[in-house]
Amino acid sequence: MLPNLAKGGGMAATRKAVVIGSGAGGLAAAAYLAKGGAQVTLLERAPVIGGYINSFNRKGYCFDPGVHYVGECRPGQGIHRVFAGLDLDADNLFCELDRDGFDRYRFPGLEVRVPRGFGAFQDRLTDLFPSEKKNIERFFALARELAEASRAMTKLSFQKPALSDLTLLRHVPTLLRWGKATYKQLLDWITPDPKLQAVLAANCGDYGLPPSRASALYGLMLHVHYSDGAFFPRGGSGRMKDKLVDYVKARGGTVRTRAEVAEIIVNKRRAVGVRLSGGEEIPADKIVSAIDPILTFGKLIKAEHLPERLMRKVNRTEPSVGMFYVFLGMKRDLRQHGLGAFDIWDYPDWDLDAMYAPLFAGRMPTVPAFFLSPNSLKDDSGECAPKGSSTLEIITVAPYELFSKWDGQPSNRRGTDYLQLKNTIGDGLLKEVERRHPGLIGDIEVQEYATPLSNSYWAGAVRGGSYGPAMTPNQVGPFRFQTAAPIRNLFLAGAGVFGGGVSPSLASGVVAARMALRD
Ligand SMILES: Cc1cc2nc3c(=O)[nH]c(=O)nc-3n(C[C@H](O)[C@H](O)[C@H](O)COP(=O)(O)OP(=O)(O)OC[C@H]3O[C@@H](n4cnc5c(N)ncnc54)[C@H](O)[C@@H]3O)c2cc1C
Repeated sequence: MLPNLAKGGGMAATRKAVVIGSGAGGLAAAAYLAKGGAQVTLLERAPVIGGYINSFNRKGYCFDPGVHYVGECRPGQGIHRVFAGLDLDADNLFCELDRDGFDRYRFPGLEVRVPRGFGAFQDRLTDLFPSEKKNIERFFALARELAEASRAMTKLSFQKPALSDLTLLRHVPTLLRWGKATYKQLLDWITPDPKLQAVLAANCGDYGLPPSRASALYGLMLHVHYSDGAFFPRGGSGRMKDKLVDYVKARGGTVRTRAEVAEIIVNKRRAVGVRLSGGEEIPADKIVSAIDPILTFGKLIKAEHLPERLMRKVNRTEPSVGMFYVFLGMKRDLRQHGLGAFDIWDYPDWDLDAMYAPLFAGRMPTVPAFFLSPNSLKDDSGECAPKGSSTLEIITVAPYELFSKWDGQPSNRRGTDYLQLKNTIGDGLLKEVERRHPGLIGDIEVQEYATPLSNSYWAGAVRGGSYGPAMTPNQVGPFRFQTAAPIRNLFLAGAGVFGGGVSPSLASGVVAARMALRD
């Protein structure tokens, strides 16, 4: 008989840790808890581990819906530190993308290649916008300041604070000035040139918001994240997941799929275990919930255990946008068609805010912007596509509302109306890619479409969101959710804590584990 945790008792003498959700944050938390000596149980509701860092395979082609490039993979930098801290061969986990242009922004009549290094990027922009030289300098001065602050903060999450860290305080005025601003307000302060503004925001699909809605600091932080180049996980994103899962298992941890947590059991303001949807109870000394905080607080914990202020925050939290995906496996080398180890952001227009407007009204835009990501060309292991063949992922932002009536239904049983809608959007997107990149698509062996409902189904995403709560000024930094929950022994990790993206999610897991072990 399992103990009734709600009535207290049942806690074992050894330190048991339960981690809810096996995305980047949950896996990092589980690994660092295991490293710290905890007996870890990692619980995942889906049939597969990994959330957005899970690859899937079709006919020898490997697809990575939630990872196209990451930054901070050199020794001493964020992602490298997470894996190096576990002795997981961090030096060989990633392949570097094209240093001269890992991101390529295509606007009508202009292509901007984003090179490694702020210096090179600044020079390139100055060549393209010579009359904006001073304004470009101002942008990079601000970005460098944020980079310095972020490096210091990363160091602090891995090492004990030193007296010299007090120098961090000099960044406080900048952080305060831009903390509540939108990226558009920051861009208006930088330059009146709408084209330069569009270029500086062209990677906004990485957080799924146009400049007028996005946080200024997050918009800038994204440039900081990729300032020392971009990388792709060697062999696909699933390799990162495999390394972390193996690490947990090697230290006696248990990793379970189809194990949906229905409730976090709270007794006298302490989290004491979890109840799975089948009724099984698992006691725990420490719990890390690495799923969207809207779910942790809104679904897994009875409201009576939570402060009203927190519940009001949960109820007004805005999820991030969904995506529409086309996954292609082609029996051709896309290098011969102009692609390479880089991504392309392709815009039909310079006004990014106008392009997002239909999405916020629940419609697909007539002429979409899209992201082209040939992941197999970024990988040097040869494991992402058969020899001489390539993968191409085409992604565009899509409103959840268009698909919401089918949410909750199994992926292959949503009926013909859903299929028809999906095929109409997918075929239309493919046609638009062919129109803007003639001859690129052909020799197709795998062709699949996915909607925001795939995010809900495979990653448990709230309203099909791609990055946890949206990165608006009111939902980043101190206004996002905090690692320590207002319930003893409960900690949060995942995109809802430091922000969407693999790097912040991994870091959130490390911090949650550290706090849980110290507590
Ligand atoms: C299209 C797209 C492209 C992206 N591209 C990039 C990129 O190139 N670079 C980058 O850095 N980031 C990218 N991201 C973002 C990044 O992948 C995510 O922000 C990050 O991986 C999220 O990690 P997470 O820890 O929040 O967990 P998630 O990946 O969100 O996983 C949470 C897990 O918890 C599980 N779960 C939920 N509820 C329960 C429950 N009750 N019980 C048990 N398990 C539960 C879910 O099934 C899921 O597996 C992209 C995202 C998308 C959608």
